[in-house]
Amino acid sequence: MKIRSPIVSVLGHVDHGKTTLLDNIRGTAIAHKEAGGITQHIGATEIPIKVIEEICKGLLEKYSIQRIIPGLLFIDTPGHEAFTTLRKRGGSLADLAILIVDINEGFKPQTYEALNILKMYKTPFVVAANKIDKIRGWKAHKNSSFLETFEKQVPKVQQSLETKIYELVGSLHEEGFNAERFDRVTDFTSQVSIVPISALTGEGIPELLTLLIGLAQQYLKDQLTIESDSPAKGTILEVKEEKGLGTTLDAIIYDGVLKQNDKIVLLTLEDVVVTRIRSLLKPKPLEEIRESKTEFKRVKEVVAASGVKIVAPGVKDVIPGSPLRVAKDENLEDIRNEIRKELEEVKIETDKAGIVIKADTLGSLEAVIKLLKEETDVPIRVADIGDVSQRDVIEAEVSKNTDEIYGVILAFNVKILPSAKTILEESGVKVFSNNVIYKLIEDYVDWMKEIKERRKKSLMESIIRPVKIRILPGFVFRSSKPAITGIEVLAGKLKPGYNLIREDGNVVGTVGSIQDKGKNIKSAKKGQKVAISIKGGIIGRNIEEGDILYSDIPEKDYKILSKQLKNELTADEQETLEEIVKIKRKVDPTYGTGYSLS
Ligand code: GDP
Repeated sequence: MKIRSPIVSVLGHVDHGKTTLLDNIRGTAIAHKEAGGITQHIGATEIPIKVIEEICKGLLEKYSIQRIIPGLLFIDTPGHEAFTTLRKRGGSLADLAILIVDINEGFKPQTYEALNILKMYKTPFVVAANKIDKIRGWKAHKNSSFLETFEKQVPKVQQSLETKIYELVGSLHEEGFNAERFDRVTDFTSQVSIVPISALTGEGIPELLTLLIGLAQQYLKDQLTIESDSPAKGTILEVKEEKGLGTTLDAIIYDGVLKQNDKIVLLTLEDVVVTRIRSLLKPKPLEEIRESKTEFKRVKEVVAASGVKIVAPGVKDVIPGSPLRVAKDENLEDIRNEIRKELEEVKIETDKAGIVIKADTLGSLEAVIKLLKEETDVPIRVADIGDVSQRDVIEAEVSKNTDEIYGVILAFNVKILPSAKTILEESGVKVFSNNVIYKLIEDYVDWMKEIKERRKKSLMESIIRPVKIRILPGFVFRSSKPAITGIEVLAGKLKPGYNLIREDGNVVGTVGSIQDKGKNIKSAKKGQKVAISIKGGIIGRNIEEGDILYSDIPEKDYKILSKQLKNELTADEQETLEEIVKIKRKVDPTYGTGYSLS
């Protein structure tokens, strides 16, 4: 048993300082050479605990943080795209994340995106409120702890920082997180810490690192405890062509040990591949590269947590985000099935109508599906990795025949192939494309809402709505052929063409035209007093002055109203509809049975 370094990923909006922060941490660590500097991995950089101790200058003692973990392994590629690629079954490969926000700009689209993804994977994170050196009047103190440099600022500057922090607290609150400046956090399990930093001057970085160490040791110990001689588990970060080596795999190993000659199981788009590791490579220190002209050095084995380049035959089609598992002869079949199942769990292919989703990696596909399901219950027909192809358009077109809102392709970070473009327009399939997942989903959901709204409207137009009118005594202009009389609309909206019934259920005639002050109008609403003609009505025979009449709602319209359009009716229309149902049942006791408004 050993405790490995937690894997840390940096996320945030473009230009908010992800790269600068990683560079600063690496640079500062390298400067502490005597303590061990940094350990370079493939795709990751490890900062040993001793170096962190030096950078943090006594903060670990101050906050009584033990030193159980060997260090922090930072993923070199920041951003949520790398983060979603670094998946592992049921979660993220990253044990911890830093969500970086430019304190002067606040939350931006990719900040929300990153937050959504962290939420989805339940990854613990701290917020780094970056660029505090840009606050007006700020006096920088290079590499100093935040509390020290804060103390030295004039009150106005301090106040300015506090205001900006509270804006971040507000944004996080809206997203369902309870957050505070780190030194005011009382419960690290339920509150998110905000650490003000400058990635440029290094201010606040001591606290940021201290916090990561503290959180990892306090809350992730089980997750970080591994058997260092068990077969390795990892995730493929990148599939890369390397001069003289062919296709290589950059992998992050989070459990066990990976050895040269190990048999490994990986995923391609279609299936599982089993191959044997020819060599394992690690980066050479800079000085050595200059001498030998190759960037890599061979190693016999690597133990988690570790980033390593794998040279093995037959890995050309392996997908980024693929799991990596070491198999022995006796458990090869089991592992093969397990890994295959993992692919099947994410990929979707059914014959039922639904939308098509295409994404660039397994992790992003998984994220799109999960976040879509949180927003809507729209069915999915195909979910797959890769560019949008002609086949995808055809699949979407088939779904479109069932329902227009399914004739859709959601494309995340992928291209539309030329062959797909040629048939796209004719197919009427709609492609939504965005590299921010929540925007992609939002666009689709908004579009879907619009269509549903439109449908409701036209449905509403096509059915008879509940109306109640009164024949105004003393305003009968003609008694028949057609009858013309003044009326008052008591509820709902009267339209030409509506059949009218009496309170006993008898049909008296059909509304011909509606006139207001001598002019024809299309409808009359509650409160209006107008003149109408009633075809088939004879005043004094089947209609009397002062009578209350209702619209005659066919049973099929009542069913639609009670099932789909209930919420579209005003309160007085609902009330009138109930009265109409009672009247209709006097004539036909089975009218609308099984349907109700409540
Ligand atoms: P990324 O897109 O998130 O990786 O952002 P970068 O690290 O590339 O930073 C974007 C810009 O902001 C660069 O010009 C950086 O020099 C600048 N920058 C990053 N952090 C800071 C900071 O703390 N203070 C100041 N003043 N500039 C910063």
